[in-house]
Amino acid sequence: TLFGELKLHTWIEENIKLSGYDRPTPVQKYSIPALMDNRDLMSCAQTGSGKTAAFLVPLINHILQNGPEAIHREDIGRSGRKKQFPSALVLSPTRELSLQIYNESRKFAYRTPITSALLYGGRENYRDQINKLRLGCHILIATPGRLIDVMEQGYIGLAGCRYLVLDEADRMLDMGFEPQIRQIVELSSMPMKGERVTAMFSATFPKEIQVLAQDFLLPDYVFLA
Ligand code: AMP
Repeated sequence: TLFGELKLHTWIEENIKLSGYDRPTPVQKYSIPALMDNRDLMSCAQTGSGKTAAFLVPLINHILQNGPEAIHREDIGRSGRKKQFPSALVLSPTRELSLQIYNESRKFAYRTPITSALLYGGRENYRDQINKLRLGCHILIATPGRLIDVMEQGYIGLAGCRYLVLDEADRMLDMGFEPQIRQIVELSSMPMKGERVTAMFSATFPKEIQVLAQDFLLPDYVFLA
């Protein structure tokens, strides 16, 4: 299989070429068509398998096909700041992984109207991250705790989020993020399952991840071992 056979939007196809990728890795080969078909997905993928592009490529393709100009903002009346409504949310356990995902998303969205934004913990960069949201965020890449802070401050709403990714879900649970993840997915304005596409990536598939998959994914989700 070549990327050219996946019927991607020409812009993202060009950006994949610019990245120097010729052929999809196995996880990409199976994840990309499933997510392009709007199926929910549980993928047991290791770091280094190409899992980042496996969810970012169909995600960016999805936004391009649905019109990125549809980005929605609301005035929250504080120093001209807007509440931002991302079209896609990627939850990741750490600042390092979030940065990697952000850099990949910038590569694949190069010369498209699609914008990405980054939120992760640490006191020194809070203001900076909030200020950068103003530049737009079709794709929000965030660690769970920081996202909740920013949502509570009124800078982010999830009502328009039609695409949800949990990257390294097992690591997020190991780090104790389950309550925060459930708050974001089940207790915010995030569309329900079936109204969004949800992809979970996890190196391991223990009972706790199976339960999370059952709760967050439609019953007919695609499972990739
Ligand atoms: P990941 O598992 O997403 O962290 O990716 C591991 C590494 O493989 C990263 O450096 C990617 O840039 C690279 N990579 C991902 N997909 C491909 C591909 N289809 N062809 C060549 N390199 C890739």
